[in-house]
Amino acid sequence: MAGRLRPIDGTAPIALAAVAGAVLAGLALRTVLPEATLLLLFTVAVLVAAVLSGVMAGLFAAILGFLAFNFVFVEPRFTLVVAEGRDMLALALLLFAGLLTGSLAGRLKEEAEAARRRAAVLEALAAFSNRLGRAGGPDDVMAAMADTLAGSLEGSALVLARRGQGLTTVASVPAAIRPDPEDEAAAERVIRLGAEAPRPAAGWPGARFEFRPFETGSERLAVGFAGPAGRPLAEEGSRVAAAVLAQAAGTLDRLHSEAAAAEARATAERERFRAALVSSISHDLRTPLASILGAVTSLRELGDRMPPPARDELLEAIEAETRRLARFVANLLDMTRIEAGLEPRREPVDLADLAASVVHRARRSFPGGDFRLILPPSGVPLVAADPALLEQVLFNLIENAVKFSPPAAPIAVELAARPEGVEMAVADRGPGIPAADRERVFEPFRVSPGTAGSGTGLGLAVCRGIVTALGGTIVAGEAPGGGARLSVTLPVEGAAP
Ligand code: ADP
Repeated sequence: MAGRLRPIDGTAPIALAAVAGAVLAGLALRTVLPEATLLLLFTVAVLVAAVLSGVMAGLFAAILGFLAFNFVFVEPRFTLVVAEGRDMLALALLLFAGLLTGSLAGRLKEEAEAARRRAAVLEALAAFSNRLGRAGGPDDVMAAMADTLAGSLEGSALVLARRGQGLTTVASVPAAIRPDPEDEAAAERVIRLGAEAPRPAAGWPGARFEFRPFETGSERLAVGFAGPAGRPLAEEGSRVAAAVLAQAAGTLDRLHSEAAAAEARATAERERFRAALVSSISHDLRTPLASILGAVTSLRELGDRMPPPARDELLEAIEAETRRLARFVANLLDMTRIEAGLEPRREPVDLADLAASVVHRARRSFPGGDFRLILPPSGVPLVAADPALLEQVLFNLIENAVKFSPPAAPIAVELAARPEGVEMAVADRGPGIPAADRERVFEPFRVSPGTAGSGTGLGLAVCRGIVTALGGTIVAGEAPGGGARLSVTLPVEGAAP
């Protein structure tokens, strides 16, 4: 705070009051106190003024006390003439003592004040870093910046942007302050030139704020700040403001690069999905189509001459491939619907009925399979869901279980009421899914190396998409016998989401 002198406004009344007090006390005690001690009263007045209001008040009180003492108490009284040399000496001592004690006491007070302000600034800056750490976007950063500037400078702050025709106030602290025409002119200049505009010297007309340019990446703003009661800032205040601005700019940079990285990841993810979709469509549509075409051609050309078992085999192949195609197309359609964010239908569904009908269908599709439906004796509550989509989820899970289990191994479809909702699980006796892959199997087109070619890798991705859209969860785990256990949990109908 070196060189920063406090303004006269609070100082003069305090110095005047202290000296007036000393004069009154002197007049009252003049008859009882020895004359020399009267001087002490004035020394005390100087001390009081300095302690209350700082160096300037002490000095002011010393000079005022010197004049008042001379005027009221030194012969000839009520003149500023000093008759005796010893009185002159006493007055000079008073002035000296006043100057010394005044400046010492005043400096102590100002140092204590400066230390308090520095602590407040440090606290404001620490709170600022904290807030910046949590900032989710540029608006949060602007608001935190204005708060911190105003708080640490014990003054006010404004953030202005040029949007459209005029200037818009992006943030202001206190909230009610608005730029006046001079402030706006200064802010306009700062935004146009990108150079800072110091506040005009005291006593000159002009902006109330010191403005600095602030780049957000998409536009240039003008950030204005002023000290207590609109007073100009000392050098330290400007340094604090510069630190606040730099920290805010760093946070904006971080937010921008995070957003750019997230965008790049999303683009890469979309690209990967598209490439996988194209290769999957070309493989998974063409292979069964080629088999069907081959079988149909053979039947047409050789049908009559073929032994019946060979004909049945071809017909079976056509049926299986057509079913596979239908499944694939259905999954693809669902995938597209989920990707497009379509809301599924919701109606009360009894999972016990639904599971029974899907298991029935599975028995028809996979005649050798051993399917067991396990229901709790007390039944399960209804869930809110789209029954057609849920059937498809369960059928996909059963189809996987069949595909990965040894022939005729039992496949269990289990329902259970859980605290989070109703659980529907499919457990098999196959090799299971390694713990490290239990999340990855839900990614689109993800197939484990050993099973590549057997499926499209879409089934579980579609299941997760459907279940998530219905507000439920689906996870892969381990069945008691070491096989896979895929478990879907759906919220009970009417339960708060
Ligand atoms: P696919 O059409 O290839 O079966 P999914 O998305 O249904 O595609 O499954 C992805 C991968 O998850 C499968 O390739 C397989 O590695 C694994 N998986 C799914 N279900 C089971 C299961 N019941 N047992 C073992 N592995 C499974």
